[in-house]
Amino acid sequence: MFFEDYTEKVWGVHPSKIGADWGAQRVKGLSILSIIKDIITKPFRRSGINQQKVETSLIERFIYPKYGPGQLWETVADEVVKAGGEIRKSARVVGVCLKDGKAEGVEVETEGGREFVPCDYLLSSMPVKDLVASVKGTEVPEDVAKVAAGLPYRDFITVGVLVRKMKISNRTSIPTYEGRVPDTWIYVQERDVKVGRLQIFNNWSPYMVNDYKGSMYIGMEYFCNEGDELWNMSDAGFIAMALGELEKIGVADRADVVKADRIKVKKAYPAYFGTYSSMDTVRNWLDTVSNLFCIGRNGQHRYNNMDHSMLSAMEAVRCIKDNKTSKDDVWNVNTEKEYHETAKA
Ligand SMILES: Cc1cc2nc3c(=O)[nH]c(=O)nc-3n(C[C@H](O)[C@H](O)[C@H](O)COP(=O)(O)OP(=O)(O)OC[C@H]3O[C@@H](n4cnc5c(N)ncnc54)[C@H](O)[C@@H]3O)c2cc1C
Repeated sequence: MFFEDYTEKVWGVHPSKIGADWGAQRVKGLSILSIIKDIITKPFRRSGINQQKVETSLIERFIYPKYGPGQLWETVADEVVKAGGEIRKSARVVGVCLKDGKAEGVEVETEGGREFVPCDYLLSSMPVKDLVASVKGTEVPEDVAKVAAGLPYRDFITVGVLVRKMKISNRTSIPTYEGRVPDTWIYVQERDVKVGRLQIFNNWSPYMVNDYKGSMYIGMEYFCNEGDELWNMSDAGFIAMALGELEKIGVADRADVVKADRIKVKKAYPAYFGTYSSMDTVRNWLDTVSNLFCIGRNGQHRYNNMDHSMLSAMEAVRCIKDNKTSKDDVWNVNTEKEYHETAKA
């Protein structure tokens, strides 16, 4: 009930219209009983970073890269290159070429034009909708094409706002610099503003802000559909609206804003309505392509977090190494309760 309005902002539909499996994944392992147990046992627990026995939704501490999650991937990219791998950036996959139940390669679009890149295996994290639409060389069955084309997504806009100070202050016993709020995320339930969530980046890591002592960096999160009114607003108009909302909810004054930027992200959230209930039709067909593995969040059209996305890739690699023909292990990531958070941690 508490998250009803926020959830409606995120998905654009009332929570009662969203498939129950999304809810089950979002609060996996969480129950009234586990919350009560958490409250009772909390004073007796060591509050270290090892929270393997704590349900995911109740975890309060975890390791965060100094310069944000992207740092992890920059490191991974360096390792791949060091190991002799090649990473092509700014190369959009526009064609997935299939022949006789196998992926032969992909067609990529780069600044220099189109190019065919052959493959032994194809691990795809591109949106399922785009993957199916870009198939070449093989006829996609009509029902598969229809379900894939009807998969819905929610798009995302964030406004990064650098402020000299925030108007809200620390009301907890957690020590913070100059009494600043300790929160990393603040969910905004109010219906009279469009912003759904605030991130306070310097609370994730002080290294996320150049001048930690003199400023705070807030991320205002908006959820929309590509092409709708919010999406089509100009940057200047959108930022003006966002700063007005920040003032309206009493978080920061416009006079304290040093700088603000807007970023749009397409297909940020794979949604659990539309044709999603028939997703198995698409999955079963994609599974007939022996060397194709669907991984990640949009790659599986599943509300996977970063860990699940990584794990699905690791399972795909395991399948390839073990010569497995079934892709079930890859698809099963994040479907079973406690898949890795407790069972494999
Ligand atoms: C607002 C928000 C907050 C989140 N917070 C958290 C969090 O706190 N913790 C957490 O664990 N997870 C979080 N997530 C989820 C996390 O971001 C995803 O689980 C993760 O990024 C998925 O990884 P991925 O590799 O599957 O996809 P992505 O990270 O989306 O990467 C896919 C990449 O493929 C590219 N691409 C798409 N189509 C093509 C194409 N045709 N050709 C070439 N490239 C293509 C895209 O541009 C993108 O760069 C959050 C997500 C959002 C939107």
